[in-house]
Amino acid sequence: MRVELIDVDGHGFPNLPLMKISAYHKSRGDSVGWHNPLTAWLNPPDRVYMSKVFTFTPDYQHPVNAQEIIRGGTGYSYPDGGAELPEEIEHIYPDYSIYFEKIPEVKETAYGFLTRGCPRGCDFCIVGKKEGRAAKKVADLSEFWRGQKNIVLLDANLFACKEWRGLSDQLIDSGAWVDFSQGCDIRIMTQEKAGYIKRMKIKRIHFAWDRYEDKEAIIPKFKEFREITGWERKKLGVYVLCNFNTTFEQDLERVYTLRDLGYAPYVMLYDKQNIPAGHRLKRLQRWVNNRIIFNSCKDFADYDCRK
Ligand code: SF4
Repeated sequence: MRVELIDVDGHGFPNLPLMKISAYHKSRGDSVGWHNPLTAWLNPPDRVYMSKVFTFTPDYQHPVNAQEIIRGGTGYSYPDGGAELPEEIEHIYPDYSIYFEKIPEVKETAYGFLTRGCPRGCDFCIVGKKEGRAAKKVADLSEFWRGQKNIVLLDANLFACKEWRGLSDQLIDSGAWVDFSQGCDIRIMTQEKAGYIKRMKIKRIHFAWDRYEDKEAIIPKFKEFREITGWERKKLGVYVLCNFNTTFEQDLERVYTLRDLGYAPYVMLYDKQNIPAGHRLKRLQRWVNNRIIFNSCKDFADYDCRK
C-alpha cells in the first residue's frame, strides 16, 4: 500500500499523529512519504492522511488526488473532540524520521503524552471536551522516548494525575531535558511536586495565570515554588491570558505582580486575530514579550508614551 501524509498546519512543530500513522504503516510493510500534489496527479497514492491540529490555520490549498483521503485532528473537528487514533496506532513508537529533514531538532527529541485530560474546565480551552475532565496516565515514557537528549511533553496537566510521582521519576531517571510544552498548573503545586520538578533537567518551565480572581490563592503558590527551586526569572515563565474576561488594569496588575515575584510574564491574547492592529492589548503584548524592552522599561505607560 502506498500512503502519503499531509501536515496541514506545517508550523515547524512535528505532528504526532502523522508520526504514529507512519510508524504503523511502515510496520505493515507499506511505503510512506509526504504528499506531492504533482506526482499524485499522475500516480494517485492508495491513501492520504491529512492532519490539522489548529483551527486558525487554513486548510490544504491543493486538490488531493488519492484512492482514499482520511482527515483528522482538532483543526477539522473543533469544537468536538474528533476521532481518536485506534489503540494500535496511538501506542506505537512514533516514526520521528519523517521530520528529520523538515525539522532537524526532531533527531534529538522525543514527543508525546504521558497523561491525557485535565480536571479543570476553562472556558477558553478545548482539552476537557477533547480529552476528558480528569488527568489520566496513558503511557510510560519508554513508549515514545528511546534515549533522545530532549523530551517534549504535550500533557495538559500532568501534575493533576494521581500517578504523577511515578511519571516524574521516569522523567528524572531519563536524564533528558524535559519541556512541559503546555505548561504546568501552579494552583495544584505542592512542596513535594516542586521538589520532584527541581530534580528534573529543565531549561524553562511555564505556568499560567489566566483568571484574575485566582489572585489570592495563586500568589503564595508562585512564591513557594520559587523558594523551593531557587530558580531565576529566565527559567520561570508565566502565560498571562488577556482579552478573555479581564480588564486592562487587571492585565497590567498580573504582569507587574509576576515580575515582582521573580517570574517572566508572557502575554497571550485570546482571539488575537480579531484585535485591531495598534490596539493597546497588542502594545502590551509587544512590551511584555520582548525581554529586552520589558527589562529596560519598567512601566507600560512609559513604554507607550515613548513609542
Ligand atoms: S488548566 Fe490548562 S489544560 Fe486545563 S482546562 Fe484550563 S487551560 Fe485547559
